Amino acid sequence: MGCGCNKNKNPEFRKEENPEDLKTVLSKKLGMVQSFASALASRGLSNNKVNKATKQLRVLSCFGNQHLGGELPPCEYLKNSTTEGKHFCGGCGCGDKPHTWLMAENDSYGKLDYPKLNCPLQMPGFTNYEQSKPDEANDPVTRRYYIENIDYNKVMEIPVSLPEKQETTPQTQPPQS
Ligand code: SF4
Repeated sequence: MGCGCNKNKNPEFRKEENPEDLKTVLSKKLGMVQSFASALASRGLSNNKVNKATKQLRVLSCFGNQHLGGELPPCEYLKNSTTEGKHFCGGCGCGDKPHTWLMAENDSYGKLDYPKLNCPLQMPGFTNYEQSKPDEANDPVTRRYYIENIDYNKVMEIPVSLPEKQETTPQTQPPQS
């Protein structure tokens, strides 16, 4: 299994979690909504935002890099919004709403810009990230393991924009689904 060398353009990736674990994670929908509420709180009145490298890691975790010529497919929980070109996380229970889009409209503040943000799969770049377990290195490797071992230059190549700080009042209501 390569790590960004593109020898095999369509490698197989293991599902991130065993189904029982994931079912447990998804059943904690309220917990994830609370996590997002915490993310909203972390934004603060000055629109604090994540740094560029962390956002690049988050984009890689959610969107993969096949659209950039790489071999990592998108996360299995990445969902297309009914709004063309927008995406949301189908694993956290927040639904398809403008404030839950991972990348916002016109480079404004999106969900991936929150400094504190949890991922149901605890992927790299997120606040609750956990290092892959040793067995995740066995073929087929997990996406998490793959990202942990990717050439860092490939992460740095991921195009992201960072919204300017605005002095607007942040949304304080957790998303309802
Ligand atoms: S937040 Fe996590 S589970 Fe959701 S789409 Fe991104 S990587 Fe996947």
